[in-house]
Amino acid sequence: MNKYLARANQLVPELVENRRHFHRHPEVRNELFETVKYVKAQLEDMGYQVQEICQCGLVVLAGGKKPGKCILIRGDMDALPMPEDTGLEFSSENPGAMHACGHDLHMAMLLGAAKLLKEHEDEIEGTVKICFQPNEETFGGAKAMIEAGVLENPHVDAAFAIHVGSMADVGTLDYGKGLTMGSADGFSIHVKGKGCHGAAPNSGISPINIGVHIYLALQELLAREVNPAEQCTLTVGSMLFGDGATNVIPSEGVLNGTMRGFNAELINHLRQRVEEISVGTARVFGGDAEVEWLFSSPAMYCDPEFTDEVVRYAADVVGQDRMIPKKSRATGSEDFAYFGEKVPSQIFWLGAGVDDKTKRISNHNPKVLFSEDALPYGAAVYTQCAIEWLKEHK
Ligand SMILES: [Zn+2]
Ligand SMILES: [Zn+2]
Repeated sequence: MNKYLARANQLVPELVENRRHFHRHPEVRNELFETVKYVKAQLEDMGYQVQEICQCGLVVLAGGKKPGKCILIRGDMDALPMPEDTGLEFSSENPGAMHACGHDLHMAMLLGAAKLLKEHEDEIEGTVKICFQPNEETFGGAKAMIEAGVLENPHVDAAFAIHVGSMADVGTLDYGKGLTMGSADGFSIHVKGKGCHGAAPNSGISPINIGVHIYLALQELLAREVNPAEQCTLTVGSMLFGDGATNVIPSEGVLNGTMRGFNAELINHLRQRVEEISVGTARVFGGDAEVEWLFSSPAMYCDPEFTDEVVRYAADVVGQDRMIPKKSRATGSEDFAYFGEKVPSQIFWLGAGVDDKTKRISNHNPKVLFSEDALPYGAAVYTQCAIEWLKEHK
C-alpha cells in the first residue's frame, strides 16, 4: 500500500472529527471567521506558521529545506446558503447554511495532507504551498487569493486541487485534460416599469410583461445566434416581481441568471447581446432595463502534461483501475480555473458516494451525503502528488 495512504488510514478518526466539526458549523462566502480560526489552530498545532493573505484565505508552506520548485495544493472552505435536510446527527447548526458541496471534506483532507507533509518534510525537494481558499461558490475566492499574491513568494510552478463528488464510488478519481469545466458569468437584469392598480393596466407599465419577453428572447439567443457545435448554456434561475398581491402591477423586478461556456470570445459576445436584448425589449414596452454582471469565472483548463504526471502519482494511491478519464466536458464551473489560467493545473474529482447507491444525490442538494471513507484517499493523493511532482522537477 502507498505509504501516505497507510498513514492517512491511521489518521481517519482525526479526519472524521474535523470533517464533522466543519459540517456542523458551516459558513458562507468569505465570512468564514470561525472556520478559519479552527483551521489556523490545527495548522499551528502541527508547527506551521499561518499567513492570512486575504479575508479568510490561509496559506502555509511545507518543506523549503531543500532547493526545488513550488507546487500549490488547494482546498476550498465555504458552505452554501441553504438549509440542510440530511438528518445526519452532525447536521448544520447554522440555520440557512450547509456544506452541500463537500468543502467540509476538502478542509479535512487538506489538513490531513498538511500533517502528512509535516511528517515527511525532509523528503520535500522544494516547497508545497498549502492553500485554504474562501468563497469558491460565488467565484470570488481564487481571484482574491491570486490578487493578494498567493502565486508568489515563493513563485508557484503548478497547482493542484481535489473536489469530492457524491455520485461516484469511493476512491475513484475522475479527471480531464484541456478545457474540462465551463466558464461562469452571473447576471441580474433589473427591469423598470411603472406601478399602478391592477384594474387599470393602461395607466402603468408592467415590468412582469417586460421580464417575460426578456426571458423568452434570451432563450432564442442561444437557439438562433450560437453555432450548434458550441457548448454553452444560459439559465434564468429566478424572476422576482411583485409582493404577492393580485391587484397591483409592481414598478420593478429582477431576473437572475448564469451563462456557462468554453469559448471566451463567444461568451463576451453573448454578454453584449444579453445587454442589448434586455434594454431593447424593455424599451419596446416603454420601460427600461439594466444588466448587472455579478461574477465571471473562466473555463477550467487542465494542462495535459501536468495531468499525465499527477495521474501517474495518484494511481499509486488509489490504483490504476480507479483512475477515470472524463468522457465529456462539464458545464459546471470551478473558480480553481483562475489558477489554471496562470500555472499548469489539475483538479481531480474524488468519488465520495455512499455505499447505498439509491441514497446518492448530487452536490448542492439539501439531502446530499458524502462518504467519509474518501477522506484518507484525499489526504494521501494531495501529499503523494505534491511530493512526487517536486521530486521529478528539481
Ligand atoms: Zn459547489
Ligand atoms: Zn464545490
